[in-house]
Amino acid sequence: MVRSTSTEPSAGSPANPIPLPKEKKFLMRYYRGERLPSPMGGYLDVLGIREGDGGLGRVLFECNVSSLRFVLMIPRATRTETEKVKKLLEAGEDLTCPRHGPFHRLSKVGKAWVCPLCGVAYGKGG
Ligand SMILES: [Zn+2]
Repeated sequence: MVRSTSTEPSAGSPANPIPLPKEKKFLMRYYRGERLPSPMGGYLDVLGIREGDGGLGRVLFECNVSSLRFVLMIPRATRTETEKVKKLLEAGEDLTCPRHGPFHRLSKVGKAWVCPLCGVAYGKGG
């Protein structure tokens, strides 16, 4: 499952976090703000959230039992989500994350509106 070669940093090291499965139930738990169970037992603590390529989000975790690093890729915004954010923007209302709910505001990063918890860009402008 986890490949490692002599030329790459070992899987689970800070330079080479292990990708978590892109399972919907996993993402749903993350959006609800729940702690995610670690594949190694124990739980995953959030270390940081980055913007990935092309509007993706990347959440970095550390397993509290093994100290291995994991990364969860958050799918980019759907057309429905960007349209929802665009409407809020046009109406002059607070922009909130379509996945995290009405209590999580989007932050302006450059020209994009990004959820600080997903790392996903949901819209541009404003
Ligand atoms: Zn979010």
